[in-house]
Amino acid sequence: MKIKLTCLGVGRGSSYVIRGIPSSSFVISIDDTPFLLVDCGAGVALQYIKHFGTKIPQYIYLTHNHLDHTGDFTSALFEFYKWSNQPVNACGHSDVLSLIKKHRLHELYASGVDVDSMVNWKSQNQSNEIELTSNVKLKVFKSQHTYLCYGFNLTIKGKNIVSYTGDSGFNQEIYDNISTSQIAVVDGRKTGTFEHASFDQIEHHASKHPNIDFYIIHYEKEKRSFPISNVKYMQEGLEIKLY
Ligand SMILES: [Zn+2]
Ligand SMILES: [Zn+2]
Repeated sequence: MKIKLTCLGVGRGSSYVIRGIPSSSFVISIDDTPFLLVDCGAGVALQYIKHFGTKIPQYIYLTHNHLDHTGDFTSALFEFYKWSNQPVNACGHSDVLSLIKKHRLHELYASGVDVDSMVNWKSQNQSNEIELTSNVKLKVFKSQHTYLCYGFNLTIKGKNIVSYTGDSGFNQEIYDNISTSQIAVVDGRKTGTFEHASFDQIEHHASKHPNIDFYIIHYEKEKRSFPISNVKYMQEGLEIKLY
């Protein structure tokens, strides 16, 4: 099995709307087939097509309903459904999916579109796991964000391959949880807030976990160099071999 992560964007908030920088998103491919699209915010649909053409992802995971994470979801849903003529598999925490259905997809429901025939919704079980295949699971956890948001640990055959904080401030419990993974994708920026971690906080944490690579996303274009080698920047088009 060959597993690869492809970054589609590192933007945030209004990055795409104002500056044309695609929102934060990445794709996990298994054996060169797009398996999981993580978030579908503003500018992501076009990025997806650039990298994967009309091969639809087997699953889409949505962390939360902010524009930079679900802004393109309505259009992508339509297109993916049209290309495959099969329901799109969308997953996430059940409370997040309720918000998305009610608010992001309201325009579809209101115009009489039978959305539920276009989407297979999949959410967590009692152990907070979303079982994608018998071998691949997402274990979701609540991020530290003002809008309800869930990150995940992705496991393949029980091995934690990738973790993602979603939009999240620095929180020791969350960071300890993602630090069991081969790589951790983390929301970071120069100056942190309650709901977004700072570069300093990430660097400090990463220095205690030298065997894990921490990839910062959501920074748009703020950058500085890090003295330790296991903190890196995600970049649009970056590919990381995972397995
Ligand atoms: Zn965001
Ligand atoms: Zn957010």
